[in-house]
Amino acid sequence: MTNLEDNFTKLQARINMARTKHAERTKNVRLLAVSKRHSADKIRQLYALGQMDFGENYLQEALAKQVELADLPLGWHFIGSIQKNKTRDIANHFDWVHSVDRSVLIERLADQRPPDRDPLNICLQVNIDNEASKSGFQVAELAAACELAARKPSLRLRGLMAIPSPAVDAEQRLASMQAMKRCWDNLIAQGSELDTLSMGMSADLEIAIQAGATMLRVGEALFGPREA
Ligand SMILES: *Cc1c(COP(=O)(O)O)cnc(C)c1O
Repeated sequence: MTNLEDNFTKLQARINMARTKHAERTKNVRLLAVSKRHSADKIRQLYALGQMDFGENYLQEALAKQVELADLPLGWHFIGSIQKNKTRDIANHFDWVHSVDRSVLIERLADQRPPDRDPLNICLQVNIDNEASKSGFQVAELAAACELAARKPSLRLRGLMAIPSPAVDAEQRLASMQAMKRCWDNLIAQGSELDTLSMGMSADLEIAIQAGATMLRVGEALFGPREA
């Protein structure tokens, strides 16, 4: 068994164990393999094991891998911070964007998504721990952002995404993720058709599952340490 295969098997066992433990809250949990700083070859190996969705943070790096992997029917998710001048490439070359952290990106991605393509799936990034250093919508801004996204036929608003502060302990991490879940539930109660709560990474995926995440973004636990 290769390292990657071993990691994949262990990760699936971790996810299944947490799902069993929190079965009352978890329905579907989708795995996004975060492949930043890892080769196209590793993505190809993981695809051969059944993984379909891959997350990338750096546009140029991602575009190069997409060319190498154009023969595979992969789902490409952009999860990195977005400069305004990169939105056209992102709207053209990805299936999902998790890191929509301000309204101008909703406008630009909607305008720049090619009309012949399926709508671009987006998640709104929420600054859940109110970190000054982190971008993202404040909770109070979300309802308006959802309404804006819902008016764009070239976008499909799927849900919310969070990167909790690395500074907090497990208890506070759980509280933040539970706050995300409540926020997501409230938006659904107000009429948004959301099906995705994107949170949980290598170190805290059990906590995310406990809080009700539907999509985990896992890098290191799958691919090992990132190349510099
Ligand atoms: C890198 C990254 C991940 C994956 O983190 P790991 O700790 O390697 O699992 C998830 N989400 C985002 C936004 C990232 O940038």
